[in-house]
Amino acid sequence: MRCPKCGFRDDKVIDSRQSRDSSSIRRRRVCLQCAYRFTTYEQIERSDLRVIKRDRTHEPFDRRKLVNSLARACEKRPISLVRLETAVDEIVHELETSGREVSSQVIGTKVLEKLREIDEVAYLRYASVHRRFEEVDQFVDAIQQLGRRIKPNALQPELFGTEIAQTALHPAETANAERKIETHGRV
Ligand SMILES: [Zn+2]
Repeated sequence: MRCPKCGFRDDKVIDSRQSRDSSSIRRRRVCLQCAYRFTTYEQIERSDLRVIKRDRTHEPFDRRKLVNSLARACEKRPISLVRLETAVDEIVHELETSGREVSSQVIGTKVLEKLREIDEVAYLRYASVHRRFEEVDQFVDAIQQLGRRIKPNALQPELFGTEIAQTALHPAETANAERKIETHGRV
């Protein structure tokens, strides 16, 4: 496996473990040239599982796409890659045992179920990005339901981070700060 840091083509496996359902193997590797450590995953390729998309076109199931969409929802949340890979393993296992074709809606629903167990902020992000809520009201209801269970502070910096950042850099405050510095300078 090519080292992602220096490009050297030789490495050593330093740790190897199976996922809980034995459907994938995670390997920790160390580059023999620069000692950079990286992780690889190995799993059986299922070329026969097909996804039916909303526009009714078909495409082969792609595990990486699934991992990426979960990872995006979980960005900057305290969730390990191992936890995400486990969730994907569980979803894939459910899909594989239910037939050779699966609709993208079914995959989306399964992802939502998993994310709800893992992290509520990630769950809301995924739901809003993939428009799994039929109407805005439904989305607001879901946020309000979660709001009763989690501390308001836990949710707000994530969902309204940009607004908070803008408030912090409010022009009036910046001007005040500059004025203080000027005054101080004259003294
Ligand atoms: Zn290297």
